[in-house]
Amino acid sequence: MHTVNLSDVAVADRELAQTIAQRANVNLRDCYQCGKCAAGCPMADDMDLSPQQIMRALQMGLTEKALSATGPWLCAQCMVCSTRCPQNIDITKIMREVRRESHARGHRCIPESNAFETQFLKGVKADGRNNEQYLAAFYNLRSGHLAQDMLSAPKMLAKGMVGIGKHSVKDRDAVRKIYEKCLEKDGEQK
Ligand code: SF4
Ligand code: SF4
Repeated sequence: MHTVNLSDVAVADRELAQTIAQRANVNLRDCYQCGKCAAGCPMADDMDLSPQQIMRALQMGLTEKALSATGPWLCAQCMVCSTRCPQNIDITKIMREVRRESHARGHRCIPESNAFETQFLKGVKADGRNNEQYLAAFYNLRSGHLAQDMLSAPKMLAKGMVGIGKHSVKDRDAVRKIYEKCLEKDGEQK
């Protein structure tokens, strides 16, 4: 077991952990490490740090450990952890805020996840919805997985599951306003 000397933990790291928790409206002290969040998480097996471990890292002020973990980048925001937590901790929000901070600090713990999210949001902003064929094509370019799903494309085209043309929602401006409002609320760049 790895031993941590808590007196060596930098004050700035502790403060950042508190800031992240505040953004998620969570009191880190509420977590008593029961593990119910991690036990129900559908992604936990693939994460290096589970939601429970992310909470522990923040509690201890090991913020960099949380920020460089793949866990928050694999989180599907399904909210199972939050609904299972006996302390009503919104751990889904914690995962989101850790990921946001990680992103802001230039970490790209799962580059594919970042590539997909960036392209998905671009599609929503431009057309009010996503066009799967463009999402897949630009994702492949951004992620470097150039040939991913290429063999499925002809079959999907033949079955009409995807098309060549682009579709937009009727009121793109309304969706764009909602999109920008969300970014404004999150304090992010448009
Ligand atoms: S379920 Fe809640 S109390 Fe239990 S480890 Fe997870 S966050 Fe902590
Ligand atoms: S919201 Fe994220 S951390 Fe929580 S259960 Fe779902 S995938 Fe796991």
